[in-house]
Parts: sequence; structure tokens; C-alpha cells
Amino acid sequence: MIVDSHCHLFEMKNYTLSEEVYPVVVGYSHGSNKKVVEIARNGKTNKTTNPSHKYPYPIALGIAPQTALKELQDSERANETKLNEWVSFIKSNEPNAIGEVGLDYKWAQTKADVGKQMLVFNTMIEIADEMELPIVIHSRNNPNDNAADVPKNAIDKIIEMVEGRKFLMHFYSGNDEQAKRIFDMGGYVSIMGLRSKERRKVIEVVPMEKLLVESDCPYVGKAPEAAKDAVAYIAEVKNLDFEEVAAQTTKNAMKFFNFQI
Ligand SMILES: [Zn+2]
Repeated sequence: MIVDSHCHLFEMKNYTLSEEVYPVVVGYSHGSNKKVVEIARNGKTNKTTNPSHKYPYPIALGIAPQTALKELQDSERANETKLNEWVSFIKSNEPNAIGEVGLDYKWAQTKADVGKQMLVFNTMIEIADEMELPIVIHSRNNPNDNAADVPKNAIDKIIEMVEGRKFLMHFYSGNDEQAKRIFDMGGYVSIMGLRSKERRKVIEVVPMEKLLVESDCPYVGKAPEAAKDAVAYIAEVKNLDFEEVAAQTTKNAMKFFNFQI
């Protein structure tokens, strides 16, 4: 059994979950969060034994930075109403984690855009603190060197903002030096099956107890089964058995999201 720690099942049409992969269903925007709750509620297998959980599948709900840009306006009052709506929806559905939330400096074009992302991310961190939940982080640096209004490094800023909390870097795209800082702070890193020199170094430096696997389907992998590629990748880099990596990453996911299979 493999736990796909990050899949957007709300985007999957005509997909039936296989027995080999267990999903953590993740929101992306406000609209999709409703579907995430629906999917979790109607999950066919009821393997979650932890009675404190409301749904068959673990879920993460949050407002992603892309949504902050799309939905927020320049009027503070309008934003306050929107934020309150989001917060009460998330709270009432008792997620296992707050996410995916964070900073995406690839999509931010102006200082105001950065401000909107910051406002939403700070609010999400507040809910996580209040509900004592872990945080699933979406992070992307600014690839554009000459955009003076948008800082280059989102990951450093995020590390600073979530210090002292339980967090997971989903689709981690930072370097190995930042990965070291993340696990020194107690953070977790989620790996997908895409191969790159940088990612290989990250897998090398992060200890097995801090690694999770994901498909990020359907955006990156086609389906949750793609999380198997990530298991195979870690096994290859760390010179371990596939089964061993599958078991440890499953254990890590259950610990991070607080559920039992
Ligand atoms: Zn995602």
C-alpha cells in the first residue's frame, strides 16, 4: 500500500481508486474544496479507523496562492468577507491538514499580488494554529530575475513563516540546502516521480523518516498510481527496496496527516 499524499481527485473523471494506492485528497481553490469534501464523504472504502475522523479519506483544505490572486480584490472590506467565508468553510469541515497553501512567486506580478498571497497565507497559518493542524505548503520561486516588485525566493520566506509548526513541502522544488533547513526544523518533504539533478540531491539529504510521496494528479501525474514512480525514485537514490520505501512513506503520511489505514 502506498499513500499518495497529494492528489486532486476532484479533477479526476471516471477514475476508480485501486487497492494499491490510498489517497490524501487535497483542495486547491474554494470551489474545489467543496468537491474535496464531497469525495471524502463518499469514499467507497472505509478503512480509516481513527474515530476522530469524519470521512473515509484524509483531506487537506486551504486556499492556494493562485486562488488568492484570482479571488481577492483591492477593497479590504470585500477581502475580509471572502476570508471569513473561506475560514468558516474550512473549519466546519474538519480537515486533517490545512493545504495546499503558501506563496507562488511565479504567478505574482506586482507588490499587490504578493500582498494578497501573504494575507491569505497568514490567515491559513492562523487557522492551522487554532485547529492544531499541520500545513501542506505550495511553494514556487520567481523564475524571472528582473521582476523588481516580486522577490525571487518564496521558499526562504515560507520557511521563516512556518517556523515552529508541523509542515510538509508538497512538490518540493527548492534546493538541497533549503531541504536540510526544512528537516532540521522538523518539516517533511514530499517527492513526486519527476527526475532531476536537484531532486536527486534533495532525496539524498532528507532522511527517510521525513519523506512522503505524491502524484499531484492530474496536474503532474495522471492518477494517484503515479505516486509509485516517486517510491521507485527514492528506492533507487537511497539504495533501498521498493517495499521498504512504500512502508516508510506510508507510515510518515499517517503520522503527518494523523490517520490510520
Ligand atoms: Zn496540488
